[in-house]
Amino acid sequence: MPQVAERLARLQATLHAAAARSGHPDPALLAVSKTRSGTEIAALQAAGQRLFGENYVQEALGKMRELAGIDIEWHLIGHLQSNKTRDVATHFDWVQSVDRIKLVEALARHRMAHQPPLNLLVQVNIDDEGSKHGCTPVDAEAICEAIAARPLLALRGLMAIPAPSPDPDVRRAAFRAMRELFDRLRQRFSSMDTLSMGMSDDAELAVTEGSTMVRIGTALFGPRPVKSGDGLS
Ligand SMILES: *Cc1c(COP(=O)(O)O)cnc(C)c1O
Repeated sequence: MPQVAERLARLQATLHAAAARSGHPDPALLAVSKTRSGTEIAALQAAGQRLFGENYVQEALGKMRELAGIDIEWHLIGHLQSNKTRDVATHFDWVQSVDRIKLVEALARHRMAHQPPLNLLVQVNIDDEGSKHGCTPVDAEAICEAIAARPLLALRGLMAIPAPSPDPDVRRAAFRAMRELFDRLRQRFSSMDTLSMGMSDDAELAVTEGSTMVRIGTALFGPRPVKSGDGLS
């Protein structure tokens, strides 16, 4: 088995075991492919992976062109600037980083009527005081409402990037707070089915706490070359 297929199989087994232990369904697996080449993405896709996440719009558009015709569902997971919303609304299948109503309006304006609705997650800043991205838990409901009101957008759930902490109890508390917020909002917005949380370092913990989608880069592709702002912008 090629190395990448082996990593994929091993990761799926780990996630399945964590889900089974805690009585949750298997989470969806988003392969985070920032800085990875089209060739690396195609190899992972050939091994059965279909969901890919990108952080930077221009980088992603290049890969979409290169891989046109291959069955991939593209997710934007990086911070989204208002001046990029046209490209994002027309080319991506999901946007996980929606954290203000202005973005909702712009994405709705640019999604084309012949396309299926654009799937959105509201990014919530659950505990990271150092981050400028993500809305407050209190503001999440109004953003959900704005999305649910627009027929070209589909409200699918919430996303979070908790602050990294060496203390698993601190991370667990953040995941748990997200799951509670998700369950509460879901009573009002029945289209919500996705809680995106957990990365290479903490995916098992996130799944144990009720994540339905983990975003994994390093554990699938190997270590990324270090680059300033990587993962944060
Ligand atoms: C880079 C990134 C990931 C994946 O990180 P790994 O530690 O490589 O698994 C997940 N989510 C977001 C938002 C990222 O920017």
